Amino acid sequence: MSEHERIGELLPLAASGDLSPEDMRDVRDHLTRCETCSRLSEDFVALGGALRGLPTPQPPPELVARVCELAELRLGSKRAWSRDAVLLAPLVVASWIMALATWPLVQAAGTWALLGWHVPGGAFAASLAA
Ligand SMILES: [Zn+2]
Repeated sequence: MSEHERIGELLPLAASGDLSPEDMRDVRDHLTRCETCSRLSEDFVALGGALRGLPTPQPPPELVARVCELAELRLGSKRAWSRDAVLLAPLVVASWIMALATWPLVQAAGTWALLGWHVPGGAFAASLAA
């Protein structure tokens, strides 16, 4: 890429003032030597000024109010969801702890009910085991 091409790509940014100081210095140096780029730079500067002079479209107040209302609703639902998650998480953890802590008791009770329950004849225990 030649210097002329590189500077040509930088001209829009130079016109808007968005170049680094080093690139801006390169552009200025090149513009003193290149009539084509100098004219193009003037066009970009004029175009930027014309664009800045255009009126900024404003949304209708009803639209702004409706968007704000929808944003509030969405934020409210997110807050409710996170509040529910904060409330449910300890309950889930507590239920898991209870289930794990009581599992040996459930096993022992089951064993006792099926094997240790000595009913004469053992018909009830045998039917539970089946
Ligand atoms: Zn040039």
